[in-house]
Amino acid sequence: MAKKIIVPGQGAGQGVPPNVKEKPRVKCENCGGEYFKHVLGLKVLSGLEAGQAAGQDVLMHMPIFRCDDCNQVLEKFVPDQF
Ligand SMILES: [Zn+2]
Repeated sequence: MAKKIIVPGQGAGQGVPPNVKEKPRVKCENCGGEYFKHVLGLKVLSGLEAGQAAGQDVLMHMPIFRCDDCNQVLEKFVPDQF
């Protein structure tokens, strides 16, 4: 079973937990950068594979974070199936 990745701000009615301030920021494994760009990974599924009508392709997209300094992708936050 793939681990679930939760991106705050995309869930319904979730506030920021009070202990966020004490947590270290995620750092780039390559350069230690703390700022990331939000990019999208894309995959095309057939309609049947995606549970939609046959004969239509479905574009799946997954948010992926990439270091703003060195462009390295934060692989550990990319879901296994992507
Ligand atoms: Zn980096």
